[in-house]
Amino acid sequence: MSATQDKKLTDIVIDDLMIPSEKVAHVQVNNPLEHALLILVKSGYSAVPVVDSSYKLVGTIGKTPILNKVIGLERFEMEQLSAMQVHEAMNTDIPRLSTSDTFMEGLKAVINYPFVCVADEDGYFDGILTRRVILKQFKRDYYTFKSEV
Ligand code: AMP
Repeated sequence: MSATQDKKLTDIVIDDLMIPSEKVAHVQVNNPLEHALLILVKSGYSAVPVVDSSYKLVGTIGKTPILNKVIGLERFEMEQLSAMQVHEAMNTDIPRLSTSDTFMEGLKAVINYPFVCVADEDGYFDGILTRRVILKQFKRDYYTFKSEV
């Protein structure tokens, strides 16, 4: 049974909905950009979380900022990718949620982002909340409880 089965939206917290860190594709801050691009292309995701060596959340990285780093006058200079590291292209200005935040806090956070990272009070990476999961839960709630209105 899923953690949200029969729960109303007002009773759901982020912990019930997030994809746990062990199932999230991610990169480390000192990885070469070449590795990050490989992870992004192989996974099919447009962006993934970035963690430091102690597994604290530091940002996210996407394909476009990586490619912007190696854009030349007439071609992508892909050979530069192995000499640059993730911290040179990552975005550190990101929203974050905690596992105890409410469904509505999650909903507000994913309005502007396809996914939002979840971290604990010490900054350790817990997982991600995707817009897809929020929308699915909203739909389920609508059809489950509409007869009560
Ligand atoms: P989705 O709503 O499933 O299409 O996911 C939206 C975005 O969340 C993806 O484009 C990725 O950037 C991120 N994402 C979703 N699932 C994962 C995962 N398992 N590992 C890393 N990133 C993910």
